[in-house]
Amino acid sequence: MKGRLCLLLAGLLAAGAVLTGCAGAKSASSESSQVFAMDTVMLLTVYGDQAKEGIDQATQTIQKLEKLWSATDETSEIWTLNHSEGDWVDLSPETEQVLSRSLELCALTGGALDLTAYSAVQAWGFPTGEYRVPGAEELAQVAASIDYTQVELNEQASQARLPENMSLDLGAVAKGRLGEVLSQQLKELGVTSALLELGGNVQTVGAKPDGSKWRVGIQDPASQEGGYLGVVQVADQAVVTSGDYQRYFEQDGQRYCHIMDPDTASPAQSGVDSVTVIGSDGTVCDALSTALFVMGEEKGIQFWKDHPELNFEAIFIAQDGTLAVTAGLADNFTLADGYQNREVTVMER
Ligand code: AMP
Ligand code: MG
Repeated sequence: MKGRLCLLLAGLLAAGAVLTGCAGAKSASSESSQVFAMDTVMLLTVYGDQAKEGIDQATQTIQKLEKLWSATDETSEIWTLNHSEGDWVDLSPETEQVLSRSLELCALTGGALDLTAYSAVQAWGFPTGEYRVPGAEELAQVAASIDYTQVELNEQASQARLPENMSLDLGAVAKGRLGEVLSQQLKELGVTSALLELGGNVQTVGAKPDGSKWRVGIQDPASQEGGYLGVVQVADQAVVTSGDYQRYFEQDGQRYCHIMDPDTASPAQSGVDSVTVIGSDGTVCDALSTALFVMGEEKGIQFWKDHPELNFEAIFIAQDGTLAVTAGLADNFTLADGYQNREVTVMER
């Protein structure tokens, strides 16, 4: 099992890879499982006596939340909301909670995160893979249908509705929220050490079984092989990356990625190749990785300065290869071998 796990981890470098995770595992019993959900491979590793139960419960939760939150599954609550023609739709507590928190984060980020950017995601062909570059007139129309403030949520009745011409998706926050939910569930079971690799999201529960921090690799956006350019050390935190290399298509020499600028209804072009957000709240980390990618480095750093209450740190990798890391990472981020000459600016508050 452990040998297989090491191989799987090596194969998952494209996500936020977790490094030398196997070394710390030697003395502790563990269970691991690979789950394909939310369009990505998820690798769960849980340590300790509750490992088996933890994995089983986590797998069920992943499947349940995917069924509720998928934008493309015609039985999901999000699909129903998008096709309800302006009517109120009943929500499960899980969907109500993630929508409520996400809409708050849309507001906090000034709409850089906007769940209703899904119309743009669709116009560019991302859900189907039939990629296209829409014309200016179409883009203006799509941009007019992006406005998270139009989403109505009645928390008492656990219902939501949105105008007929709008649609939303949870792609920017679902895996972060999932990591948070799984982490809470595992802790309730008594688990003190687990590693949840949820595509580009890594959620750590506690520290490694030997008490040391997890080492999570930050991918070099320019590396074809998914090599990592730095390592961040964390315990009981989420590490979430949004990057233009994760999902994109190219046309006429131009790269179009899956993260949309809600103002233009077009792929964000803010001068960064990736943004990694690290913090104790997985939902915040996921929401902000997307929002800060849209904002770019300068506005993103300003946002970090303005919002200490959100309790997060960030790594910006600019298109010219330079890095900016926020002050809280100064002691926890190191460049990998082969990247020692990279320019890294530590941003102070
Ligand atoms: P992430 O990988 O977390 O950055 O999320 C990207 C996904 O969120 C995309 O695949 C879209 O489904 C959706 N999305 C794209 N742009 C935005 C945006 N500006 N705000 C909210 N969701 C978005
Ligand atoms: Mg995100």
